[in-house]
Parts: sequence; C-alpha cells; structure tokens
Amino acid sequence: MGLILEIIPVGPLSVNCSILADSSTGKAVVVDPGADGERIIEACSEYEVIGIVNTHGHIDHVGHVAKVRDRFGVPFYLHPEDEYLISDEIWEGFGSYIGAVPCPPPDIHLEDGMKLEVGNLTVRVIHTPGHTPGLCCLYIEEEGVLIAGDLLFKGSVGRWDLPGGDPKKLRDSLEKVFSMMPDDTLVVCGHYDETTIGHERKFNPYLHGGIP
Ligand SMILES: [Zn+2]
Repeated sequence: MGLILEIIPVGPLSVNCSILADSSTGKAVVVDPGADGERIIEACSEYEVIGIVNTHGHIDHVGHVAKVRDRFGVPFYLHPEDEYLISDEIWEGFGSYIGAVPCPPPDIHLEDGMKLEVGNLTVRVIHTPGHTPGLCCLYIEEEGVLIAGDLLFKGSVGRWDLPGGDPKKLRDSLEKVFSMMPDDTLVVCGHYDETTIGHERKFNPYLHGGIP
C-alpha cells in the first residue's frame, strides 16, 4: 500500500522526472518528462499511466511531454500562467541542445488547491509562483513527499532571472511552503539531489534574506 516514487534524471541538465504510482492499483502519473522520453516510457511499463503533470513550463521540463503523451494518450496538466513558456527556448539553440520536441498545450489546467487522484493516492496542487508564474508543487501529504520542481533545491532556490521569474513571488511561495510542511517532508527538487524541509529550514541560505 502506498506511494511508489521513481525519480529519473533526464537530459543534459538532469531534470528530475518523477513517476508517482499507487502500489495498490498500479495507476501512475509522470511528472516533468523533460527529455529521454523512451527511458521514461520504459520505466512506466509496470504501471497504468493516467496523466502527465508538469510543475512548470520551462522547456527543459516539458521537452518530451509530447512523446510520453503520444505513447499513453493521456491528458497533460499545466498551470495556465505557464502556457506561454512551453515554446520559449530561453536561450537560442537551447531547445535543440536538450533534444526538446514541440510541447502540446495543456489538456487540463492546474490550479491551487486542486486534488489529483492517482488510484488511492491524493496529490495536492500548491501554486508557488516565482521561478515561473505558474509553477506548482505537488504534495502527497500522507506520504510526506513534496515534488517541488524548480521552487527549491538542496541549499538553493529556483532562479528568478529566467523568463517568468519574480523574486518577490518566490519569497512568498517559499514562505507558504515552509509554513505548511513538517520537517520530515522529503523534497524532490527539479534538478539534482533530494532534500528535506527540515534540512533546508536549517541550512538553506536563501531562506534567510538571500533573495532580493
Ligand atoms: Zn525551470
């Protein structure tokens, strides 16, 4: 019973693509299929994929949404305020460097407080703008897991100087998340290592005046 969490670092920037699966029903969602679509599809072979959910619309996170969606024929979820970003290369040539293919518009819009049912798992959507206007964290409260996208990293936070960034909103969003979550919450970041809310509360310099 419970959550099966598979984290697959994909592409040259090691975007953490997550598969969130319910062990009792085998239903699963794919989060942030940014690259390496074939590997992601292969990793889903044991599950019934019911959706693709993106934390945000930056091209390194949406680069292989189309491949996974074509394979499973499932809806793609994204916050509407990030829809304009899915075709933005950020830097010229970046899309081809990471092997991105054109991303379809979302089928379903994420919104703050929305609950996604994945078999018996409940995944809560928390809108946390700042890195991008539509960035959403995915919180599986019963399991103490937060998929944070590029909101938060181990010892750092998401950049606020990329398209759609806003440092004030980033500060507010971090405050919102840290006021909600217990210390033992596992945080899956958008890139690189996992951390916990408690570790970041203690050691993350950006939470103590590091954002302009
Ligand atoms: Zn990003």
